[in-house]
Amino acid sequence: DANVELTGRTRVVTVSNQKGGVGKTTTTVNLAAALADRGARVLVIDLDPQGNASTALGVPHTADTPSVYDVLIDEFPLADIVQVSPESPNLLCAPSTIHLAGAEIELVSQVAREHRLRTAVDDYLANLDERIDFILIDCPPSLGLLTINAFTAASELLIPIQCEYYALEGLSQLLGTVRMIQKHLNPRLHLSTIILTMYDGRTRLAQQVADEVREHFPREVLETVIPRSVRVSEAPSFGQTVIAYDGQSAGAIAYREAAVEVIRRDSASNEKDA
Ligand code: ADP
Ligand code: MG
Repeated sequence: DANVELTGRTRVVTVSNQKGGVGKTTTTVNLAAALADRGARVLVIDLDPQGNASTALGVPHTADTPSVYDVLIDEFPLADIVQVSPESPNLLCAPSTIHLAGAEIELVSQVAREHRLRTAVDDYLANLDERIDFILIDCPPSLGLLTINAFTAASELLIPIQCEYYALEGLSQLLGTVRMIQKHLNPRLHLSTIILTMYDGRTRLAQQVADEVREHFPREVLETVIPRSVRVSEAPSFGQTVIAYDGQSAGAIAYREAAVEVIRRDSASNEKDA
């Protein structure tokens, strides 16, 4: 495993797809847990008012919990709302609460409305005691101001794609938004990774969708495919990621392999740049 060293830089990755139910949250929390399992320090920022990532990471996020809402609207420091997941001291979460549902509208009239998360993340990283290797941002299923804040804060975009009908539908709209962000708000943002999720190897359709996505995005798609697995879908109801819930399950193994690829690809691209 000589190739999977961490770089010492913080990689800020937004996990986005404006479709709901494609595996954004599942990928965010399980990839985060798998990275933490390899010794990375990982912060998950839950930008979805549903708060599913906060639930899966086992952190409290009732209405009175200080949350990402307070960071975006009232300029709380991110450090003041970050919690440690009971699963691992390396796994941190900035929780969402139901108040975030109103933020999409409240942000409209705010100064620097697209940059609020970016500013909070930069301040957080500038004042850290310990290193953070990854920040993974779990986006809501829309291309509104919350997602735009994530795109402005991140340098990498990770898109989970569900291996089903219409997998590529909506992708051109998403990539169009990314180009708009690159031009006007954040030139560093780039599509670094695509993960194929909920893969059912018994169906020809899943295979066809996977082939089609690989044909369009040969460099971005991870070799590892996340299988459809009951253990993956059960884990959140125990307030756990699948890594903690059933570390030997096919889903946990796949997310651990994906984590290795995510780390390795970055070290490889650094060598090219050097
Ligand atoms: P999104 O965040 O994009 O809306 P989720 O991550 O919440 O999507 O996933 C949608 C649903 O699919 C959830 O019920 C989740 O448990 C389930 N799911 C996601 N990935 C898998 C998988 N690999 N195997 C089985 N179920 C999955
Ligand atoms: Mg989600």
